[in-house]
Amino acid sequence: GAHDYDCDVLVLGSGPGGYSAAFRAADLGLNVALVERHSVLGGVCLNVGCIPSKALLHSAKVIDDAAAMAEHGVSFGEPKIELPKLLEFKQSVIDKLTGGLKSMAAKREVQVVNGNGTFKDDHTLTVEGGDDTREISFANCIIAVGSEPVMLPDWPEDERIWDSEAALSPDELPKSLLVVGGGIIGMELANVYASHGTKVDVVEMTPNLLPGADRDLVKPLEKRMKARCDNLWTNTKVTGLKANKKALKASFEGKDAPASKDYDRVLVAVGRKPNGPKIGADNAGVQVGDKGFIAVDKQCRTNVDHIFAIGDVSGEPQLAHRATHQGKVAAECCAGEKSAFDAKCIPSVVYTDPEVAWTGVTETQAKEDGTEYDKGAFPWAASGRALGMGYSEGTTKILFDKETGRAIGAGAVGPGAGELIAELGLAIEMGADAHDIGLTVHPHPTLSETVGMAAEAQAGTLTDLY
Ligand code: FAD
Repeated sequence: GAHDYDCDVLVLGSGPGGYSAAFRAADLGLNVALVERHSVLGGVCLNVGCIPSKALLHSAKVIDDAAAMAEHGVSFGEPKIELPKLLEFKQSVIDKLTGGLKSMAAKREVQVVNGNGTFKDDHTLTVEGGDDTREISFANCIIAVGSEPVMLPDWPEDERIWDSEAALSPDELPKSLLVVGGGIIGMELANVYASHGTKVDVVEMTPNLLPGADRDLVKPLEKRMKARCDNLWTNTKVTGLKANKKALKASFEGKDAPASKDYDRVLVAVGRKPNGPKIGADNAGVQVGDKGFIAVDKQCRTNVDHIFAIGDVSGEPQLAHRATHQGKVAAECCAGEKSAFDAKCIPSVVYTDPEVAWTGVTETQAKEDGTEYDKGAFPWAASGRALGMGYSEGTTKILFDKETGRAIGAGAVGPGAGELIAELGLAIEMGADAHDIGLTVHPHPTLSETVGMAAEAQAGTLTDLY
């Protein structure tokens, strides 16, 4: 138009949503500025989320696998953990990825601006606290400011009370740790610490660990976590926390938990709140909801036509792969393309040992909604490959719409379940039925075979154990 803006697209925040949006917009020929308050790109996911947690979960798994080898007739000594080296490794993974982002931004001529951005009006962002204070005008804006951990109100300020970020960069491996919250992040970090030798208790307010996941998928994990941790208390509330010199004293309300107990560290993993309220959205006329989320349509547009929101700040599920896909959609819309974020399913993966993964409609949800479905399932106890790995607790299941026969949901629990679920996501997106999946020749012997066998169980063509 008649306006002369500093950039075609301003992306606020450089997490998986933001950098994907910025790179896609640049690839479509747009002039892009990417504003980030931290000195490195990558957001929560690369720096203090998905990637570092998986690096630490890897050593947790190797420690546990090594111990389990005794039953195969192979014994290792007690693990000797050098924390600084472990954290150095974790950091080296992060550095490779964030360094990669920096050069990919440079290659695309995305202008990276360091500082905290707030809206001045609907075409201008003020950036402060970085190299200098400046204003950047934009034709379109993509808000990708993500979320931050929720801490508990009325708790003392104390360095021994951790959020997930602190737990990923510990000063020491504590002797004891209380994990408050049995959701995905709580369970993953409980697994990390318990396997590295810390005595871990997990406390969850609701009746179930991993609320939202089907119980049959959670059970095998619960069993292993019970063996790994000192206590898993569900239906239990932490009613208070006192920071004494020697320890953190937590008090509990619940039938199995003690009235109080001392810990070296306490990790709060009770959820994440969106950063919507912190960016002066009002000045741009962008509406922020009660909980801090910014509502968007299928094109990721906010109530202001040329301002988009993606990733954790735009709603649930708060997952990196949702953010990246939305980022591309928003960028394409800025370039005038008719894109929409229209995923039939977004997979959830818990990267514990065993992994728990699901996508599409869960059985719990189907029952609640009265959705009629058929289920094909294959127990890993019948998989030769799983048995050879010493694993017999898992299952792979697929739900099919009763009327159309098409796959609508799936779940798996076991080592590598997070990798298996990807194929089932494709099956759901493509509208596959049990024969489509069952007739697809899966390599033998693999865990991925359990996907084909679960479908064959439904199709009635399953002949044998594998
Ligand atoms: P974020 O990654 O939160 O990035 C937002 C960026 O915006 C940040 O860099 C922030 O500094 C910047 N920013 C915010 N406000 C401003 C401002 N005003 N000015 C300038 N910059 C600003 N998800 C998965 O899919 N898989 C996993 O395995 C997984 N594991 C996780 C483990 C942990 C411990 C945690 C905490 C999260 C995990 N997540 C995982 C969630 C995942 O990290 C988020 O869903 C994802 O990072 C969201 O991406 P985003 O682009 O929306 O925002």
